[in-house]
Amino acid sequence: MAAKNFYAVLGVPRQADDAELKKAYRKLARMYHPDKNPGDKASEERFKEINEAYAVLSDADKRAQYDRFGTVAGPASQGGPGDMGFGSIFEDLFEGFFGQQERGRRTRARRGEHLRYDLEVSLEEAAEGLETKLQIPRHETCEPCRGSGQQTGTSPEVCSACRGQGQVRFSQGFLTVARPCPQCGGEGRINRAPCRECRGQGRQRKERLLKITIPAGVEDDNQLRLSGEGESGLFGGPAGDLFVVLHVRPHEIFVRHGADLLCELPLGFPQAALGDQVAVPVLGGKAWLTVPPGTQPGQQLRLKGKGMPHLRGRGRGDAVYQVVIEVPARLTPRQRELLEEFKQASQDESGPLLASFVERMKKLFGS
Ligand SMILES: [Zn+2]
Ligand SMILES: [Zn+2]
Repeated sequence: MAAKNFYAVLGVPRQADDAELKKAYRKLARMYHPDKNPGDKASEERFKEINEAYAVLSDADKRAQYDRFGTVAGPASQGGPGDMGFGSIFEDLFEGFFGQQERGRRTRARRGEHLRYDLEVSLEEAAEGLETKLQIPRHETCEPCRGSGQQTGTSPEVCSACRGQGQVRFSQGFLTVARPCPQCGGEGRINRAPCRECRGQGRQRKERLLKITIPAGVEDDNQLRLSGEGESGLFGGPAGDLFVVLHVRPHEIFVRHGADLLCELPLGFPQAALGDQVAVPVLGGKAWLTVPPGTQPGQQLRLKGKGMPHLRGRGRGDAVYQVVIEVPARLTPRQRELLEEFKQASQDESGPLLASFVERMKKLFGS
């Protein structure tokens, strides 16, 4: 199944908040509702898509998961798009018809949102691991009121309009309809003495300095999840998590390949033919590499254990040097003379590549 872009389905930007999502969803759901388009397969499909997208994006957990992975894992039947059925859409449209913002009382406690922090590190830092401090702006539980939103010594008053139920009922024709209490906004309680510090919100915006440890061997796009370091919850709900997304900067010399570090090594023809000892870069310094006599272009020479550490498990990968032969573009008279002589001396011998090439030519042209 191709991954759908749920934001595109609802026609909202990625940063759309809950209210925008809801608004877009309602508009589309009404437009494509099967009752309005009887027998129209395309509308029906679209209607399903809209519901699927909204089911994911309206759920903070699923949305965070979708934003991170582009998909929502886990059993689809578990509150997934599959069972976003007519019940919920009717409930939702119904609210819309009566102009209410929030659904009736459920539980006041809400989990805080997840936060994402993008952190750039160098390849050297990724190899060594690092301890660093991050400045995280986030909501934290208000200390003076301990998250209640009430002034100390006060408690919320039971709403007189709904007697604490959070819902009021009224009749319309044959129907009795319950809707959120307008006086308390469905909370069932009214805060007459909101905490001055947080103005009744129960949490406040703060900058928090967090020390984090990045293990050696991390790769680009790896994520660290710090449980409970996201936004604080509301009304006693648990805090969200903080996701630190790592970006490993491209290196001047090395390209990473799993735990191996690759780099091109230009050698002259004589060096490759005769063998040599050459100084090569390794992470954080230099090392000596033995070029064996008769080294071929494209051959890979390794320094064992000079690559990246394995994130899980022991040891390190290798530093791998891929040989590139550089042919001189210009020759001094002396060099030319020596090479001519070398050519003369090598007339009778050819390497396996040339021998096989000549053989195939003979087969093709018969001479
Ligand atoms: Zn009320
Ligand atoms: Zn407070």
